[in-house]
Amino acid sequence: MSFDPYLARRDFPILERTNRGQPLVYLDTAASAQKPRAVIDAISDVYERHYANIHRGVYELSEEATRIHDGARETVRAFLGAADVREIVFTRNATESINLVAATFGRANVGPGDEIVISGLEHHANIVPWQMLCQEKEARLRVVPVTDAGEVDLEAFEKLLGDRTRLVAISHVSNALGTIVPIREVTAAAHERGIPVLLDGAQAVPRFAVDVGELGCDFYVFSGHKLYGPSGMGVLYGRAELLEAMPPYQTGGDMIESVSFEKTTFQPPPQRFEAGTPDIAGAAGLAAAIDYLNGLGLDAIEQHELELTRYGTELLQQIPELRMIGTAADKTGVLSFVVEGVHPHDLGTILDTQGVAIRAGHHCAQPLMERFDVPATARASLGLYNVREDLDKLAAAIRHAIELFR
Ligand code: PMP
Repeated sequence: MSFDPYLARRDFPILERTNRGQPLVYLDTAASAQKPRAVIDAISDVYERHYANIHRGVYELSEEATRIHDGARETVRAFLGAADVREIVFTRNATESINLVAATFGRANVGPGDEIVISGLEHHANIVPWQMLCQEKEARLRVVPVTDAGEVDLEAFEKLLGDRTRLVAISHVSNALGTIVPIREVTAAAHERGIPVLLDGAQAVPRFAVDVGELGCDFYVFSGHKLYGPSGMGVLYGRAELLEAMPPYQTGGDMIESVSFEKTTFQPPPQRFEAGTPDIAGAAGLAAAIDYLNGLGLDAIEQHELELTRYGTELLQQIPELRMIGTAADKTGVLSFVVEGVHPHDLGTILDTQGVAIRAGHHCAQPLMERFDVPATARASLGLYNVREDLDKLAAAIRHAIELFR
């Protein structure tokens, strides 16, 4: 059966509510996705029927909670095409996953004069941890330039790779522009020189099928809340041999093998990187989100969002006062723009009165805004539940705002 977004909408209870008295047009999925009933129910089910702390319980309830939590790791492994569940570390979000790699792999492998390569379209989460690491280690952060269309300049990228490059950290899909970065070319160029690659997949995993083996990356990070799952639940995939060699991140309960006042030994990955009680119900919610997406089919979701991205782009380009920011040939899910004479924040506020929820601001990508010489953009971002009518309403609301400011 083919994917029907109108049917899928019924799975999302929140889409029945209004926004400022108007039917809700939710166009902020890049910030966070709404949750299907299956995810909400999976979380409630843990708290209502299976909840206890995990791993050390000798009673039935704790064993059930452990099975649910650890079972979610297998669901994530299969979802990412990882070879082994030991390669899947649970974190709070993509931000924490990146900080984990910077604090462990980074501190262990980056020294004075070394270099880390990122791109000009990164989210702050994939800039600041590397910048801090470079400051600490007297290393250098190198930034691949972005073209006028909002694409990563691959020629310049290859030239930046050298003997001192210790890691490439790059977005799979840009949250501010929707650009899909050609990852296979990135990993091939980096691996030719023996450089590991971390991919920020926060905006990619909700939009198309990802296989870490096929991409050939060494680390892959994402957040559950952007994948129609719960907030507070994130993932770090790391190649087994890299994780094995990494020192712990946070320390305390659950990540140790044995503790004495003289010496502590640590669990192997992934437990080594998961100190303290995890988000047990969150893991169930994330697994439910993945099951839900698999049920709909990620390829169908991908086609749907690509079609909507094209439709929305055509529609917005018919508004003479509007300029798209980010016109990459390969892009999905995000429509970023500025409107002459209307500040993005004012635009966002007026759209809100029409029931249309978009985001206005720098999208945690201030260097990218600077690159395009704008302080902020308005951003409409798509989810599997969006339909053409949502974009029609967006365009109408923008025209209304332009009239108000005339
Ligand atoms: N990277 C990208 C590309 C993002 O879009 C986001 C969230 N906007 C993040 C990282 C950070 O995600 P989180 O806030 O869930 O850690």
